[in-house]
Amino acid sequence: MYIASGSHDCLRINDAVGIVNWMKTPATFHTHSIYCDGQDTPRTFIDQAILSGLDMLGFSSHAPIPFPVRWAMPREKLPHYLACLRTLAIEYSRRIDVRIGMEFDYIPEITSPAHPWFGSVSCDYRIGSVHFCGRYPNGRHWAIDASEEEFRRGVEEIYGGSVRRAVEVYYELVSAMARHFHPDIIGHFDYPKLYNRDDRFFRECDAWYIMCVDRSLQSIASTDARIELNTGGVTRGRTDEQYPSAWILERCKHYGIPVTLGSDAHSVLTLTTGLPEAETLLESLGLRPGIERVSSHRPLRWLERYSWL
Ligand SMILES: [Zn+2]
Ligand SMILES: [Zn+2]
Repeated sequence: MYIASGSHDCLRINDAVGIVNWMKTPATFHTHSIYCDGQDTPRTFIDQAILSGLDMLGFSSHAPIPFPVRWAMPREKLPHYLACLRTLAIEYSRRIDVRIGMEFDYIPEITSPAHPWFGSVSCDYRIGSVHFCGRYPNGRHWAIDASEEEFRRGVEEIYGGSVRRAVEVYYELVSAMARHFHPDIIGHFDYPKLYNRDDRFFRECDAWYIMCVDRSLQSIASTDARIELNTGGVTRGRTDEQYPSAWILERCKHYGIPVTLGSDAHSVLTLTTGLPEAETLLESLGLRPGIERVSSHRPLRWLERYSWL
């Protein structure tokens, strides 16, 4: 059931009782508003977060990319994005903790979470994600999440039909991003499984895949980065399981990599979808909420209370 708020925004009133009030870490750090490819305004997201009982809401619009893509924030919007969120964070500060973040791409030689391009951008946290994994012979960047057909085409034309090689390169990019460009959170860590329903491209139990994941986790463990449990794939009906898979979350615990929650919401309707269940999963895997962690680079102590280990 929905009620109108403003001319086109909607709020979910069945969340008015605070469906996530019983969550141990009532927060989400992966949110896309109208400043990139999301459908709702930041204010609408904040109102929904309060109704849902969240303590903290992090915004993470796709940072600008220096070539045309339809889902990233146009460069000229960046100052408005930051100013809008700063204003709202102050306005709502008595009711909810609003944090300003961005989801940065890593494309070698082109952009990264620490690219000088973003030198003057001051945000509370940075999500680092790999969406592109090599280029076609004509120079076009291969977005691994565009569609299943596009995924298949990239594997064929860039990696000679070797899914294994494509996936290996993906995890090498994630490792390099973590080691050299220090994002605070690694976005949708096992993204290559996006179109892998029924193991149509690879099996996660294959030794080579486990090795790829493990090497990448070891790289991340040597940094201060956290990994997010991202429910967006399940919410959008693209994957059967959250990112990353449960066995990888267990490896995160093994390597001491904290885990944060993110719904990857592009609309208020899915702002908290899957988050309570995600906490249940983390608890069943032996992870615990709220950690004390001394970090040499980016302490972000406020984020530790919302991290699981
Ligand atoms: Zn992403
Ligand atoms: Zn995202």
